[in-house]
Amino acid sequence: MSAWKVLLTDGLEENGQAILREKAEVDNCPTISAEELLQVVGEYDAVIVRGRTKITPAVFEAAKKLKVAGRAGVGVDNINLEAAKAHGVTVVNSPTATTIAVAELTIGLMLASVREIQRADATMKQNQWLKKQFKGAELTGKTLGVIGFGRIGATVAKMASCAFEMKILAYDPLLTNEQISERGGTPVPFDELLAGSDFITLHLPLTSETRNILNAEAFAKMKDGVRIVCAARGGVIDEDALVDALNIGKVASAALDVFASEPPGECAVVSHPKVICTPHIGAQTEEAQARAAEDIA
Ligand code: NAD
Repeated sequence: MSAWKVLLTDGLEENGQAILREKAEVDNCPTISAEELLQVVGEYDAVIVRGRTKITPAVFEAAKKLKVAGRAGVGVDNINLEAAKAHGVTVVNSPTATTIAVAELTIGLMLASVREIQRADATMKQNQWLKKQFKGAELTGKTLGVIGFGRIGATVAKMASCAFEMKILAYDPLLTNEQISERGGTPVPFDELLAGSDFITLHLPLTSETRNILNAEAFAKMKDGVRIVCAARGGVIDEDALVDALNIGKVASAALDVFASEPPGECAVVSHPKVICTPHIGAQTEEAQARAAEDIA
């Protein structure tokens, strides 16, 4: 049997490539365009993507030899699962590889936004010393609402409760109350989480049910001065409603790693002075990428 041909469309850490090369012929094309992919995908037995490449129904149609589509990371929202099933292609991901990286970024975003670290740094770089303008708040003893209590949500909860003695409220309708309690959260209905949290962080997938789960109605139910963090998926927050809530002071600050449209370009949410943004870097640590590469290979 001839060796499998594997196409890497978004790059892969060297450790993963080395594992693949032991058994397969590997083509690394990290800047391949959607049109080029359609032209060449018919030659490959497996394709491995990260977040950039979309494996659409048209790609599956053209991929006559394809047996496996892999995502080096968690979300498989860039792989059309229905088309994969229809063409008998197995879809695999590396769900645990990036948990710690995203959880640590979430904690970093919480601290950065509550202490305005990035704005303080920017003023220092302009040779200013605005000590009195930067009065933040503390995490310790506050209540953290976690929406989506899976791997990342529960890891954030553990870090927040161990390091900052935060009280954890958790909403996750797909888990039992026992599962949430075992993972260190107090299970609460959605509205109770909104009303009772000083900080709210989201760790759920984007689905038809979760799209705009934080909308104007949800913001209205929150405490005044609540702080929002999102390193899940763009689209779970209604960004226009968030900007309105920031403008009236309902939300004190927001820290976002993900956006409804990526890259978001110039827009009200990114340019808002009470919002800090990172360009979807949740999984971007050396360790997470190496783990993801090894798992998927
Ligand atoms: P997970 O599957 O372990 O957890 C997701 C949880 O969301 C599950 O427990 C599920 O029951 C829950 N959920 C589903 N629908 C819900 C709803 N309507 N309301 C509340 N909870 C709901 O996944 P994970 O590994 O913890 O990842 C969480 C999210 O983080 C995913 O969306 C993933 O794409 C995202 N992510 C982002 C980055 C990044 O770079 N920022 C990196 C990795 C993962």
